[in-house]
Amino acid sequence: MTESLKWFSTRGSRNPFTTRETISRGLAPDGGLFFPSHFPHSNEVELAGLDSFPEIAALVLAPYFQGDPLKEQLPEICQQAFNFPLILKKLDAQTRVLELFHGPTAAFKDFGARFLAQVLSRIQPRTTILVATSGDTGGAVASAFHKVKGVNVVVLFPKDRISPRQKHQLTAWGDNILSLEIDGDFDACQRMVKECFQDENLSQDLNLSSANSINVGRLLPQMAYYACAGTWSVRRMGTPLQLLIPSGNLGNAVGALWAQQMGFPVGKIGIVTNANETLLQYFKTGVYEPRKSVATLANAMDVGNPSNFERLKEIFPRLDLLKKNGISFFSVGDEEIRKSIRQTYDRYQEIVCPHTATASWIAETIKPFQPVTWVATAHASKFETIVEPSIGRSVELAPQLKEILSRKPVYETLESDVAALKKKIRQAFG
Ligand SMILES: *Cc1c(COP(=O)(O)O)cnc(C)c1O
Repeated sequence: MTESLKWFSTRGSRNPFTTRETISRGLAPDGGLFFPSHFPHSNEVELAGLDSFPEIAALVLAPYFQGDPLKEQLPEICQQAFNFPLILKKLDAQTRVLELFHGPTAAFKDFGARFLAQVLSRIQPRTTILVATSGDTGGAVASAFHKVKGVNVVVLFPKDRISPRQKHQLTAWGDNILSLEIDGDFDACQRMVKECFQDENLSQDLNLSSANSINVGRLLPQMAYYACAGTWSVRRMGTPLQLLIPSGNLGNAVGALWAQQMGFPVGKIGIVTNANETLLQYFKTGVYEPRKSVATLANAMDVGNPSNFERLKEIFPRLDLLKKNGISFFSVGDEEIRKSIRQTYDRYQEIVCPHTATASWIAETIKPFQPVTWVATAHASKFETIVEPSIGRSVELAPQLKEILSRKPVYETLESDVAALKKKIRQAFG
């Protein structure tokens, strides 16, 4: 038996937390991010010839729940959370793609949101999750928690600032999901959410919680799919996984780094951003300088100050350690994103989304290592207005999105006024 695993804040406080506690808290009390005392080694994970992702995920995650009744429930949690395929596909002798977009809202956010929903409903019944959203996360969270017993969700989104398809994904639910269109911009939505959390009465009465992307409950499943894909890669193709990962807040990439720290067969990792170059500049100069984000075609990656950077620094406190471990950074502009969508289609008949296109561009032009697996973070049909002109044909809507878009939208419109929001939440779930 190795020492039991605890979580500490990246800001240096020595207060230990269990995995269960980190998941219900989200953020450490000192404002830092939770980071484990050590990584359990893959040698201790007996895969016993298992091959399906939910089964492998339950075993990979078990050491993190040592001593917690949740450990025995992991097989069931993983079966319910990951009820859609994870696919590692070979395109040619040197090229593979890891498809993370087969979940209900067709982006990798489904893995984290669905695992978090299953865990939270078991450890914290009677919770109200409050999220402001402008992209993929809100839809994934609403879908993941829809009809989950004991948990209610309030989703705030800005009026007239999201696409009709995006809006439909945020409003296709009803039941325990309250979708609210706010007469204001995304910042107004975020401000209202923050003010609700600061209201201690409301926060306690409704057990308010966030499903923030820095939550360990979202990172653990992202680690598990890289552990699984690494295992498949060795079994089926005879080589470790070498990855190019489209990145914004580094949540997906940190999952890969953690799987590598556990000793799963994950070799070189290239972290690819769009024109938001904060990380590339850090890689070149060793100076980390947050900037304002710029808008790009890969909008889910428009991040100027990646929220998981503190976790990257915790693994590799110095740049030379990062380089020695085969980690590198790349940045891809909008023009290359368009070219990449076209080129990937011409070469492989694969239609990639603008985010995935950043990684396939590096794989096909710079070729930093081979064999290479690029990570496909969303289905191309979520971004048809960008993809279709680039390839000159229409993109078939992902089947799971067809289902969502056939539902009747249920939502209410509110002025951007926090008192009105609080009243509405109490009416619905108080
Ligand atoms: C969220 C998202 C990303 C960025 O992931 P991070 O974990 O923030 O690095 C990339 N592509 C898509 C489609 C996303 O939804």
